[in-house]
Amino acid sequence: MAKSKKKSALLPDLHPDLFPLVDVARNLYWAWNAEFQALFTTVAPPAWKRTAHNPIKMLKGLGRRRQAQLVADVKFMAAMRRCRHALRSYLRAKTWYQEKYGRRLKGKIAYFSMEYGLCEALPIYAGGLGVLAGDHLKSASDLGIPLVGVGIFWKQGYTRQLLDANGRQVDRFQTLNPEDTPLREITGPSGRPLRIKLPVGPDALTVRGWQLDVGRIPLILLDTDLAVNRPRDRQMTRRLYSGDRDTRIRQEILLGVGGWRFLRAMGLPIAVCHLNEGHAAFVALERIAERIRTEGASFAQARRCVAATNVFTTHTPVPAGNETFEVDLLDKYMGRYTRLMKIDKRAFINLGRVQAGNEREPFGMTPLACRTSDRRNGVSALHGAVARSMWKELWPKRKLENVPIGSVTNGIHLRTWLHPKMAALLDEYLPKGWEERQDQPRVWQAAKRIPDAELWALHQELKAELVEFVREKVRQQLRRNRASVVQLNRVDSILDPDALTIGFARRFAPYKRAALVFDNAARFARLLNHTRRPVQIIFAGKAHPADAEGKALVQKVARLAASPRFRERVVFLEDYEMEIARHLVAGVDVWLNTPRKPQEASGTSGMKPTLHGGLNLSILDGWWPEGFDGKNGWAIGTGQDHNGSRAHDKRDATELYRILERQVVPLYYERTAAGLPRRWIARMKHSIATIPAVFNSHRQVKEYWSKYYLPTLRKA
Ligand SMILES: *Cc1c(COP(=O)(O)O)cnc(C)c1O
Repeated sequence: MAKSKKKSALLPDLHPDLFPLVDVARNLYWAWNAEFQALFTTVAPPAWKRTAHNPIKMLKGLGRRRQAQLVADVKFMAAMRRCRHALRSYLRAKTWYQEKYGRRLKGKIAYFSMEYGLCEALPIYAGGLGVLAGDHLKSASDLGIPLVGVGIFWKQGYTRQLLDANGRQVDRFQTLNPEDTPLREITGPSGRPLRIKLPVGPDALTVRGWQLDVGRIPLILLDTDLAVNRPRDRQMTRRLYSGDRDTRIRQEILLGVGGWRFLRAMGLPIAVCHLNEGHAAFVALERIAERIRTEGASFAQARRCVAATNVFTTHTPVPAGNETFEVDLLDKYMGRYTRLMKIDKRAFINLGRVQAGNEREPFGMTPLACRTSDRRNGVSALHGAVARSMWKELWPKRKLENVPIGSVTNGIHLRTWLHPKMAALLDEYLPKGWEERQDQPRVWQAAKRIPDAELWALHQELKAELVEFVREKVRQQLRRNRASVVQLNRVDSILDPDALTIGFARRFAPYKRAALVFDNAARFARLLNHTRRPVQIIFAGKAHPADAEGKALVQKVARLAASPRFRERVVFLEDYEMEIARHLVAGVDVWLNTPRKPQEASGTSGMKPTLHGGLNLSILDGWWPEGFDGKNGWAIGTGQDHNGSRAHDKRDATELYRILERQVVPLYYERTAAGLPRRWIARMKHSIATIPAVFNSHRQVKEYWSKYYLPTLRKA
């Protein structure tokens, strides 16, 4: 009774017989369950689309007539009850964790991340770091790992990207109303909203928390947008990664210190803190101060205890990408921790410096995280090695190979990225229970049994879906920019579902070199416009709002895409996010990745197409040296580090053209009498058989579990 009252308060106009839809919508489990998504699609197809796949918002706008139709629709009502039942069984099922550990272990893992990419309806992420965090929570849920996520509710998210008629990126921000989301305000023991006080330098903020259920995992999103706070403090949780240094340090204090205090106020028994990147490293200072205050420990004892239960994952192989703060700014906002940790100011600042006592060095979040976490890792084998050499000075007495930074290679959450039609094909040919055993290489070998014609037919179908999706997006883009009828009519001729299709989508950070394929534009145009062997490429990606170089890259690629010689073969989709990513990775033939080595710590986007037989064509950076076996895609270049020169870019571009012209294109167009590209399909199967087996987030989370979480829990 109490429960249904809550539902009617949230959705006062909803027919009570449709309340099961609210249960299903309120747990993000639907975001990785095709049956649930199909259910929401039938509720109101246009609204599902219009709300960017936000079930709560859709249900709020559902008219009386449509509700009555649904209630009278026996098939719909049965499907709805099936979904609710599926959610309940999922939440009750015995998990991997319960089978292995039962109730023997106590305490939870708190996972801190500035951003989470869980679904397109909650745009509180900027790119790969967020999507990785989202996939981590989903796998932790599937496996039953006792983890709780901590982040920030970014009311305006990152940026919505529009492209104007000249291909310029225009940044738009939309405000997300928590009542239009599955977020629930966290309450305290009295049943009233839980609020904590957070001192931030001279100020004291009031913080509230929203809970999002991600399957079995609670994600706590902090928020300062409360009337009791000053305007500037209310605004600090508005936009992700924007604003000045002053805002940035306050945001990081909120995540680290505020996150820890909120967990405490909720009474959660936290045994391990996992810092996804250095943004949350202030949590260590708060925990040290807490131990000193409550247990009378010395600084050295408290630091040792905290470090023993802290795990730190670094993601940034570029020195400039590692966050630092000027000492004065740190002093202004965190100076009180010298007193709280009972150390002097020098010792405090040295926690964030590579070289103790170097007055010119600012306070770095990565050194701080390294010094306060006994377990540290990079996100691919290569990045682990890069991180060891980048941070070796933190351990001056150690040899390079003994620098204590390991690696756990990233993976993707398969159900999130797998097209339902491909899932059905895998169900048919992989052994039963393949999903639970997705990290066993043996299981995937069965992909080789899929008949060529069947795999190819499905691939072509997914590619045709992609082409339709892209054309519709381009039409929307053109209409908004008041394009002519001629331009709109031309959309039907862009992209050919039978042509070799390349995808390139990721943040437009300059090191990723989105424009590398245009290095020799004439040569690339010849390749694309070949009459018998056409090639096409789809781009998507946002530049950071303050990144002029990245924005120039967006404009360069968007303008080339609109130019007469590339118009039919090159498309730039605006506002890259998870829905666009899902379509791209399901339908492309080739996924292109051209970072300056070794600046891509791991990269995960290239793992996604391999589920559908898409082949990687990539610089040997990030995860690719581990994934590439000579037959499941292609490597660009010899694997040398980029030397920063223009000549090196040119060399990489030339090598890229050579592989496309001599290997990729001929192989794709080599056909049997029946029209099948046999040798290409063999590569597709080999890619399916070898890559998802390793680069999935179940394997990733289990690796964090056995290497870092479990030994730490045992100690606690
Ligand atoms: C997977 C994904 C990324 C990560 O892309 P990389 O190429 O690994 O940087 C970024 N954004 C979205 C929307 C994604 O789905």
